[in-house]
Amino acid sequence: MKFRNLKKIKELKTITTFLKPKKVYIPLISQDDKNITLLVKKGDYVFKGSIIGKRKGNLRISIHSSVSGIVVGFSEHTYLNGQKVKCVEIENDYKEKEETRKSTKRILNKYTKDEFINLLRDCGIVGLDSGFPTYIKYQNNINTLIVNSVNDEPYVTCNQSLFRTKCEEILEAIDSIMDICSIEECFIAIKKENVELKKILDNHIGTYLKIKVVEVCNDYASGWERNLVKKIKHETYKKYPTEKSIVVNNVSTIYAIYEALKYNKALTDRIITITGDGISKSQNILVKNGTLVSEIIESIGGIKKYKKINFIAGGLMMGNSLPSDDLVVTSNLNSVFVMKECDNSIEECIRCGKCVEVCPVKLSPILIKDNINNAKKLEKLKANRCINCGLCSYICPAKINVRDYVKEAKKKQERI
Ligand code: SF4
Ligand code: SF4
Repeated sequence: MKFRNLKKIKELKTITTFLKPKKVYIPLISQDDKNITLLVKKGDYVFKGSIIGKRKGNLRISIHSSVSGIVVGFSEHTYLNGQKVKCVEIENDYKEKEETRKSTKRILNKYTKDEFINLLRDCGIVGLDSGFPTYIKYQNNINTLIVNSVNDEPYVTCNQSLFRTKCEEILEAIDSIMDICSIEECFIAIKKENVELKKILDNHIGTYLKIKVVEVCNDYASGWERNLVKKIKHETYKKYPTEKSIVVNNVSTIYAIYEALKYNKALTDRIITITGDGISKSQNILVKNGTLVSEIIESIGGIKKYKKINFIAGGLMMGNSLPSDDLVVTSNLNSVFVMKECDNSIEECIRCGKCVEVCPVKLSPILIKDNINNAKKLEKLKANRCINCGLCSYICPAKINVRDYVKEAKKKQERI
């Protein structure tokens, strides 16, 4: 993964919209889990916000339609992880009809904690980075909320642009969450270089005495959950920050919680960054879940006529390279890069050790790659600790996508 043409991509500040797709294709998947109960059939009429599926098991969460219209069938489209996934195909009648929403509280902090948790589950609120069901985190006793506004992925600015435009609402939501869940302190983490956002926050934060802004360094991975928890609370944990009574939410997730509290609105849309030298104008764009990325790109002027185009879903460092734009928008898709393909021909490993030097969790990616079929060795090499940061692939002079081998090894370990 080498991106020589990165310099041509500009930072984005404004938000545009594309909210009238002809059809939406809602994938029957949550994170990477396809264990979903389907609740609609061909010919059914669904409202915007109707529940069309439910994830089973311990992480159960509702999946909603993002338009009103008729279920016209089922088809397969590409999901963020690069796999083809069965989708519910809904023809948009453009009426935006909604079922009567449950009444909400006029004052947001008047929900009980149980009501809050049920609301998050029923509105399908998941992390707008990880896709992890948010209510699960709040089922614990929480003392500290960390709001992550550190943009790690280069050129992905959807979170920042949302924060700039919805700062008041986001602060109101944080304050309410703290009241509802008896949380003592909140830290909003931003990058030092993000001077403009700092100014906006300073102007709005006024009476929210329990909310503090923390600046973190500009380096890649400073916004990684473990790094934030360590920097801000000097704590480490095994699996989840909730072990230390800490919740980390990204800023877009907080805004989704705001809309659930205020309007009982299900999570049916999100802002994504579409950028790269393969399109004429980069955008932060509000789109409905289930919209085909090809339709969004078409609406903003289409793809430039290069010989070969590469699509990257989910960020240059942590995302996945895709052969086409037959990709559906989901809550955990933050960006799509449309890039003129460079010479990415893979060479042989020169045993330089750079992938080992750079790994923030001290793994040996090259050894993991070499032992991909040796379960015993993989266990010793602890591939399961990989945070998918992509640095090993980025640094590799032989252009080997080492991260994907580590990812595969991690999956193998999880299956054992
Ligand atoms: S992707 Fe995984 S193995 Fe590669 S540098 Fe990041 S943490 Fe290490
Ligand atoms: S960085 Fe690339 S070339 Fe160097 S040891 Fe790792 S895989 Fe091999």
